[in-house]
Amino acid sequence: MSHSYKIAVLNGDGIGPEVVGSARSVLENAASKNNLNLEFFELPIGMEAYRKWGRTFPPETMQSMRESDGWILGPLQSGSYPRDDKDYPMASGKIRKAFDLYANIRPVKSLVQGSDSRFPSNIDLVIVRENTEDFYPDRNLFKGYGEFWPNQDTVVSLRVVTRNACRRISETAFNLARARKKTRLVTAIHKANVLIEGDGLFLGEVRKVKESFPDVRLEEKLVDSTALDLILSPENFDVILAMNMFGDILSDEAAGLVGGLGLAPSLNAGDKYAMAQSVHGSAPDIAGKGIANPVAEILSTAMLLDWLYSSEKGRNNESFFKTARAIENAIKMQLTSSDPRDRTRDIGGQASTTEFTSRLISRL
Ligand code: ATP
Repeated sequence: MSHSYKIAVLNGDGIGPEVVGSARSVLENAASKNNLNLEFFELPIGMEAYRKWGRTFPPETMQSMRESDGWILGPLQSGSYPRDDKDYPMASGKIRKAFDLYANIRPVKSLVQGSDSRFPSNIDLVIVRENTEDFYPDRNLFKGYGEFWPNQDTVVSLRVVTRNACRRISETAFNLARARKKTRLVTAIHKANVLIEGDGLFLGEVRKVKESFPDVRLEEKLVDSTALDLILSPENFDVILAMNMFGDILSDEAAGLVGGLGLAPSLNAGDKYAMAQSVHGSAPDIAGKGIANPVAEILSTAMLLDWLYSSEKGRNNESFFKTARAIENAIKMQLTSSDPRDRTRDIGGQASTTEFTSRLISRL
């Protein structure tokens, strides 16, 4: 019997159970066809956990995550969590901080090629977003929350930029540009003309890391002109390196260029742990209707397999690689079909989440 790997499944809120359920069954089917032995177990998080234990990220969930090989997380509707939640304000920030998931990798690729003229067919870029600091007050301090009211009419928000975080996220971006072999270009996003100190420190570290990558080019670009160029000439980007806030905003913009959030996967990764989680939120407007697009969560799961393949946990087990390719190929095939049953409504089709999923499974 081959080694079995533990995959934790955390459904999350809103459309979470629908898209995570779909990703899990696609993964189960693809793995069994490629000799990959996976053991799934569900862990409570978000409102499901709050209803049972009065907190959205129970310590038992955290402990079980520590003991598993990889995690699939659905969206968390943190903005509407009750104020008496012991994990207030944000479980996802806590996870990223507790497990040091410092890199958020967000590929943006044309998948609905040719069949929908609204979307360019030649986009293939990846946003590498720093995940632990910057303007995010739920994770940028050792203790406490990085926003406060010195008086009743004033709010102060702290931004944190550290040399270490800038260095390691730059290394991730340069390594990725090298591995992708596209144009070997890293575009570092900043606003150093205004955020002189913080973005200055960031750019300084980016330039230092670049010295170890003579085969990769570096371009430094203001965030505002990047927002424009993403619309005008998205095909020119390869790897976009950004700190937390700019990376977050640009990834929603970029997702819009290829069909929307239903197609935007992401991986939260550190040196020891990784978590599949789509870019989108809990989409309360369509939750429970059975129409959510599961592609983002499914592709995030394929990214987790690739991470496991090259990590110590995956021990170069080829089955991870093969399973990830099988999932990606099935998605590619399904999204280039002109049959409306092969797409969910957000990208012009008629399929429900479950119909889309079973058609995809039959293609594996
Ligand atoms: P949250 O408060 O959790 O961030 P939100 O609605 O503000 O939720 P998103 O969940 O990211 O933000 O959704 C933005 C829009 O994109 C919504 O109209 C939503 O329905 C749509 N959307 C997001 N994800 C999907 C998906 N997987 N399939 C179809 N539509 C989606």
